[in-house]
Amino acid sequence: MSGASTNIAVNGDRLWATIMETAEIGATPKGGIKRLTLTDLDREVRDWFRATCQAAGCTVTIDDMGNMFARRPGRDSTLPPIAMGSHLDTQPTGGKFDGVIGVLSGLEVIRTLNDLKVETNAPLEVVNWTNEEGSRFAPAMLCSGVFAGVFDRAYADSRTDREGKRFGDELERIGYRGSEPCGGHRLGAHFEVHIEQGPILEAEGKTIGIVTGVQGMRWFEVTVIGREGHAGSTPMPLRQDAMLAAARMIQAVNAIALRHAPLGVGTVGLVECQPNSRNVIPGSVFFTIDFRHPDDATVAAMEQEMRSAVAEIATSTGVEASVELVWDSPAVRFDPQCIAAVARAAEASGYPAREIVSGPGHDSAYIARVAPTSMIFVPCEGGLSHNELETMEYGHVVAGANVLLRAVLETDQRFAERARAG
Ligand SMILES: [Zn+2]
Repeated sequence: MSGASTNIAVNGDRLWATIMETAEIGATPKGGIKRLTLTDLDREVRDWFRATCQAAGCTVTIDDMGNMFARRPGRDSTLPPIAMGSHLDTQPTGGKFDGVIGVLSGLEVIRTLNDLKVETNAPLEVVNWTNEEGSRFAPAMLCSGVFAGVFDRAYADSRTDREGKRFGDELERIGYRGSEPCGGHRLGAHFEVHIEQGPILEAEGKTIGIVTGVQGMRWFEVTVIGREGHAGSTPMPLRQDAMLAAARMIQAVNAIALRHAPLGVGTVGLVECQPNSRNVIPGSVFFTIDFRHPDDATVAAMEQEMRSAVAEIATSTGVEASVELVWDSPAVRFDPQCIAAVARAAEASGYPAREIVSGPGHDSAYIARVAPTSMIFVPCEGGLSHNELETMEYGHVVAGANVLLRAVLETDQRFAERARAG
C-alpha cells in the first residue's frame, strides 16, 4: 500500500446510517428484519441497492439467478474484479446485520475510495448473492452454489416455497432474472465481511476473526433395535433394552468429540423411542449425530470411532444397530493469500484479531471453489444471530469495513504486480 493510503479508513457514520436505512425494508416490531428471498421486500431492497450503487458510480449487472454485481471500474479493465459479497435476504426472524453488513461494507469501501479519489488497478465489485438463507427456498446458499457449479440452474429454478411457488417464477415476477449466465462472471478474489454468529470473538475480546475456512460436517442417523418386554417381569440379564444401548452410544459420541476437542464437536439432538411407554422396555430407538471438524480426515476418524463404538455397544447390550450417513459437507479451506491479506489488514488497523473457522456455511464457502476467497468475522453480541435481537457494536461494524478496505487494496496491489510481471 502506498504511504498516502496508510491511514485510510471508511466513513463509519455513513456505513451505520446505511445499515439502519435498509433495516427499514422489512422491519419487524422486535427490531429485526423479515426480508425473504424473491418477495416484494427483496425487490425493494434490490431496487435500493441498484440505485445506490449507480449513484456511487457503479455499473450494475444481474445474472440469470438474480445475483447482482455492482462494478467500480479500475485502471486495467482486463483484470478480473475483486469482489466484496454477501446477501441482503434474511431469515423470517432475521437480524439487522447478518449478510447485510457484508454487502453494505462493500458499498462503503467504494464510497470511501470515491471520496478519496483512489483508483484501483482491478475493477471492484459489490455482490448481492441471491437466496443465501434458504428459509423460503431450500437449500441455503443456492445461487452462490449455482455460480460455483455446485447446483445447476434448472434445479434452482425448480425449488418451491411452502405455498408451491417456484423460485424461477418468483425471480421473474420481481423482475430480477438477469441476462448474464450465472457463473460466467470471472472473479479475481472474493472477500466477505460477516457477523460471527457465535460467541468466540466476544469471549476473547477480539474485534476481527480471520476466517481460514468452513468446517467439515457429517450427519448420521442411527437405528437401534432391541426387544420390547414387561418392565416388571423381565429380569435385568435377559433384557435387550434399545434405550440403554442408545444412551451408551450417545455417551460415546460425546467422548469422541471430546477426544478431538476443542475443534471437534459432536451432537445428538434428536431421539425417538418406541413405544415410549413407562412400563415397557424400549424396543427401538432412532437418533441423529452431527459431527464437525475443520479437517475432513478428522471428521472421517470421528465417524470410524463412532461406528466401532456403536457396534461394540450393540454386541454388549444384545441389540442390533445400523448407522446411515445422510449428509457429508466437506471442509473448505480459504485461499492463503486472501487469509494473509485479512490478517495484515487487521494488524495495520490495530484491531485485536485471531484466526477462526466458520461453523455455519456462507456464500464464500461455495465461491471459494471458483475464486481465491476469505472472510472477515466481526463480533456478535451474546453470540445471538438468526434472531431479531441480533446486535453489533458500532465500532465492530466499522472495524470489519476497515479491514475489508485494506484487504481489498492490498490484493489489488498484488494483482497489479502480478500483471506487470506478466
Ligand atoms: Zn449470513
